[in-house]
Amino acid sequence: MNATTSPVNQYFKALQLDEQSNSLSQEILQNCGVEIERCLECGKCSGGCSNTHIFDYTPRKIVQLIKVGNEDRLLQMDALWCCVACQLCVDRCPSGIDIPRIIDYLRERAIDRGIVPTRPNVKLFHELMLDQVQKIGRVSELYLILNYNLKSKQYLNNAELGPQMFFKGKLNPIPARVKRMDKVKRLFRPKPGQKGVAE
Ligand code: SF4
Ligand code: SF4
Repeated sequence: MNATTSPVNQYFKALQLDEQSNSLSQEILQNCGVEIERCLECGKCSGGCSNTHIFDYTPRKIVQLIKVGNEDRLLQMDALWCCVACQLCVDRCPSGIDIPRIIDYLRERAIDRGIVPTRPNVKLFHELMLDQVQKIGRVSELYLILNYNLKSKQYLNNAELGPQMFFKGKLNPIPARVKRMDKVKRLFRPKPGQKGVAE
């Protein structure tokens, strides 16, 4: 019998996988407060996901990849940039696994490692939105969409919605600023030893 396929070696391979998964799972536990081992693999998250039709890996598969510690695939998958944080998977999960929180964490990790996003405009949108929150404590739809269209070079993207939203009072040209900006700024402080949004 080939040494690598003997039952003893297969047993040890399983142990190695488990050790690998522990390191990524532990990191997710520490940084996201999510206990990945509680996943029952029932698939309810995938069944309820609003965007699963465009995911290359379903939410259940993403949790499985974390369990086996396949970080390379997780950081390069297209699904990383397709999640819209709608929370439907969290609502459906019997174990309360917060997949959008994990996806956020993995996005930060992919950016820190210099991995080019499969959907750069999603990253751009996040950056512009966070930039506004950091400056005025809230998001101005008008400036966000103008800035986004300009920077993504999609100058007339959703332009037909502008007048409708304006006349319904949804676009305020003078956005209000949050009074306690010191509290908002605290949200952007990097954790010790972690890169964060610049002050
Ligand atoms: S719904 Fe929850 S428990 Fe079921 S597969 Fe998804 S993450 Fe796992
Ligand atoms: S939060 Fe993301 S993964 Fe969960 S249901 Fe919504 S799009 Fe799908």
